[in-house]
Amino acid sequence: MNAPSPPFCTVAIDGGAASGKSSTARGLSTRYHLLHVDTGSHYRALTHLLRRRGQPPEEGEALDEALADLPLSARVDDHHAVLLAGEEPVREKDLRGLEVNEWVSTYAALPAVRHRLLALQRWFVPFAREEGFAGVVMEGRDIGSVVLPDADLRFFLEADPDERAARRRAEGQEDTIADRDRRDTERQSSPLVCPEGATRIDTGSLSLPEVIARVGDAIERFREKA
Ligand code: C5P
Repeated sequence: MNAPSPPFCTVAIDGGAASGKSSTARGLSTRYHLLHVDTGSHYRALTHLLRRRGQPPEEGEALDEALADLPLSARVDDHHAVLLAGEEPVREKDLRGLEVNEWVSTYAALPAVRHRLLALQRWFVPFAREEGFAGVVMEGRDIGSVVLPDADLRFFLEADPDERAARRRAEGQEDTIADRDRRDTERQSSPLVCPEGATRIDTGSLSLPEVIARVGDAIERFREKA
């Protein structure tokens, strides 16, 4: 006889730049068969496409038209939800390059940009259910506060800024972590916050397997209770 499938679980992971969200979410997605949705990559893809069109980060008709025109859809590669621009995902090299790092928080502060992505991000939950995933692990800045305010589990990852800058250098990336965090925290629209009821995890003092285990314990407790 097959084991009963675990109850569907939504996990929100928020935190500043390079706080360890993606590595944690990736590890959890394979261990617990969750769909991994990296919303930072959505803002990065949009920023890249808007820069390529020469669209400045200003609200107005031109931005609305450019956003309405973007051919966005998604596909699942293994456990990861990948945003497509037309038929193809934006190349990693473009998503993580210096130009996007410098501009992404400025575009992400615009309500029209956030509005364009919100419905798509929420749509991943029913999609994951239909596809037979045991849940969703979604990471970003406003997941527990705005995108999935009813998430079953909420976490906020943090680490010392020097530690985070060192992580990016070790990945060979030039990043503007402090600037991005400041813009993301100070914006009016869906700012970076630790959502109510979220568990804070200091990823500077724990190894990646320890962070994954800590969130994993909560997932297992959720499954036992449900
Ligand atoms: O997670 P990552 O560092 O790749 O995110 C890139 C940028 O996208 C962030 O600095 C932020 O400006 C924006 N973002 C956001 N809301 C999210 C995820 C990312 O504003 N939920």
